Amino acid sequence: MRSLKDQTMVLATRNRGKINEILTLLKGVHVDIILVSNLGLSEPRETEDTLEGNARLKATYTASQTGMIALADDSGLEVAALGNQPGVATADWAERHGGRDYRFAMRRIWQALETQRAPFPRRARFRSVICVAWIDGETATFEGVVNGHLVWPPRGANGFGYDPMFVPDDDTRTFGEMTEKEKSRHSHRSRSLQLFMQHCLNNDAPTVA
Ligand code: IMP
Repeated sequence: MRSLKDQTMVLATRNRGKINEILTLLKGVHVDIILVSNLGLSEPRETEDTLEGNARLKATYTASQTGMIALADDSGLEVAALGNQPGVATADWAERHGGRDYRFAMRRIWQALETQRAPFPRRARFRSVICVAWIDGETATFEGVVNGHLVWPPRGANGFGYDPMFVPDDDTRTFGEMTEKEKSRHSHRSRSLQLFMQHCLNNDAPTVA
């Protein structure tokens, strides 16, 4: 696979929580990272019905518009008793009054589980698909998964999105109760990024402590 070492790459996400995590996890790698929000680019509509499809769509769109290598993340929460919903629609479940409200989104998921009297523990997983796109159209995708269960009420003020209701296996705290470093020991995104670093940075990767 082509190496990205010593090149410039656009990070194609505007989600502040993801940006913070990705920049921390990529700290120390030999790549110059530019944020897409600094380039005045419009956002593509996420029209695909898989995380892989939307990650590829965002990365290839950004690479073609900027003439630079681009990296995108598409991620989602898959709840076993809801047939793996919301999945690719995870961000949409938070839409309310023209903005995103994650208290509302977490309640919506819990209510759906209550309605169908889902058994405990209420199993779920986060999935992250990272796609890197080169300007000639070549792409590579890397997936990371973390299994766990959901709790109610939500706990903790750290992280973002659905973090306060998700407890990863091997821990008793929600992601919302962990520091960024603690979350990165378990998280789907640190796993997809580790694979990305192994394959595209010639193992020039800081290990997640
Ligand atoms: P995307 O921007 O289409 O990938 O949307 C991902 C959705 O999943 C957003 O609603 C995020 O808040 C949520 N999400 C993704 N990763 C995480 C995470 O690590 N913790 C909590 N929520 C997440």
